[in-house]
Amino acid sequence: MSSLQERIVHGLRIVIDRELCVGFADCAKEAPEGFKLDDASVAGFLAPEAVERERLLRACDACPVDAITVWDETGRQIVPASPDRNVP
Ligand code: SF4
Repeated sequence: MSSLQERIVHGLRIVIDRELCVGFADCAKEAPEGFKLDDASVAGFLAPEAVERERLLRACDACPVDAITVWDETGRQIVPASPDRNVP
């Protein structure tokens, strides 16, 4: 099974790399409606569409190990914000 979980929310493509996730729960603290940790302390989606866009972006950006990435409607990576990353 892929370690990647993906959702399209508010026009954003959000991807959680569950292999990178180390369970700090910063994402779930910022947006408890959107993310939850499973029994193995690995983040997954709950109801990210219930979180307003700006807070959802903050929650994704809060990940200390960049396990969550976000692309906007044009395919540009906006989280983590780094100009030298490859756009798939
Ligand atoms: S903030 Fe990152 S490392 Fe922490 S639980 Fe969320 S995805 Fe995992």
